[in-house]
Amino acid sequence: MYTCAHCTVKGCRVKETERPLPKNCPMVVHPEMTGTVQPEYFDEKDHELYVHSSEIEALGYGNWPRIREIVELCYMMNWKKVGLAFCGGLADEGRRAADIFRKNGLEVVSVMCKTGHCEKEQVGIPVEHRLRKSLDSWESMCNPVMQAKLLNEQKVDFAVVCGLCVGHDTLFYKYIEAPVTTLITKDRLLGHNPVQALYVNGMYMDRRVYRDLDPSTPQYPQKEN
Ligand code: SF4
Repeated sequence: MYTCAHCTVKGCRVKETERPLPKNCPMVVHPEMTGTVQPEYFDEKDHELYVHSSEIEALGYGNWPRIREIVELCYMMNWKKVGLAFCGGLADEGRRAADIFRKNGLEVVSVMCKTGHCEKEQVGIPVEHRLRKSLDSWESMCNPVMQAKLLNEQKVDFAVVCGLCVGHDTLFYKYIEAPVTTLITKDRLLGHNPVQALYVNGMYMDRRVYRDLDPSTPQYPQKEN
């Protein structure tokens, strides 16, 4: 098992190191992959994408917000048609993002997650796990598979995710055919800034971040107020 997250050496960052690498360092376990660029980087399209992404990393470093980096990547890759998959809870952000892409000269196809007009019950989500608990209240299901299919039909050059739910985004990534990146990662509690949960320690955040591992705890924790 690799544990780079807890490595204190970080010898992979430098050209040569006299620092002893951890025994389970991937470079120790796989010397055949070390110092040799993986052949996938030389696949025609992937090579272009990788090189341009790295150029943007340098050009935009501390200079451009992520949305500008996405715009610049589109220009470098000659991608003219952007597919924007946004969450209904971030409709305002979706519109703002679409406006910025358009004002930067890109064509935008945008699809909201609730498209398709299917009710959550149709896909087997029990009423107790819905936002609205009343049996007779309509709750449209998020539909990332249809979002992906619509953007595939529109033959977008590049797909951009704007705040899709955890797991719904996973399905979108699975079914979208175009290359894809994420503009906004949804975090309803933290203003769509999930890293904040990593920075705030102690009693304010701990009870929200950590699961109660007591086996007698209900499988689905109750909503905290
Ligand atoms: S690759 Fe090796 S040196 Fe780099 S962080 Fe992982 S364990 Fe540490």
